[in-house]
Amino acid sequence: MDFTNSPLSTVTLLSPNHSGPRNHAIDTVTVHCTQGQCTARGIGEIFLPEERRASSNYGIGYDGEIGLYVEERNRSWCSSSAENDHRAITVEVSSDATAPYAVSDRAYEALIALLCDICVRNGIDALRWRGDPALIGQVEKQNMTVHCWFKKKDCPGQYLYERHADIAARVNARLAALHKNEREDGVCPIN
Ligand SMILES: [Zn+2]
Repeated sequence: MDFTNSPLSTVTLLSPNHSGPRNHAIDTVTVHCTQGQCTARGIGEIFLPEERRASSNYGIGYDGEIGLYVEERNRSWCSSSAENDHRAITVEVSSDATAPYAVSDRAYEALIALLCDICVRNGIDALRWRGDPALIGQVEKQNMTVHCWFKKKDCPGQYLYERHADIAARVNARLAALHKNEREDGVCPIN
């Protein structure tokens, strides 16, 4: 398939921390929290040093700006699972440094817009969330995963975890409007 990157990204800081090309089509999204409020550039700077051994495809600053760090065609080092990161777009969202790791409204709205764009460009018809790690990889039932299923850590944090159903509903409403309008320009309607 042809890989593209999001036109919504306005900061590009490509990280050396990735595995090169994916071995699987993009069919999953994994939302993470930074546990410390950052700009999109600031998140990218964290992933620049090779010794960091970590990255994500995208990051969202507290002001809603979106950064690209690992191109979509490449596998990021984000979710402590090679299998997941080969098929998922990984997105770090700027969050508070302490539980419940809340994110700003602007970051949240940018996340909805970015995920909608990711779905449109990669042919993902809808986001599906059951909160069930037993369904990892069964993307027709659930195509959102969370870091804490792969490693014992507090990511994406309570704030974003509890909103995964809302994230899916918001993105799916936009996708439905897009299909209803039969628009073919790949731009998500605002609602
Ligand atoms: Zn994470």
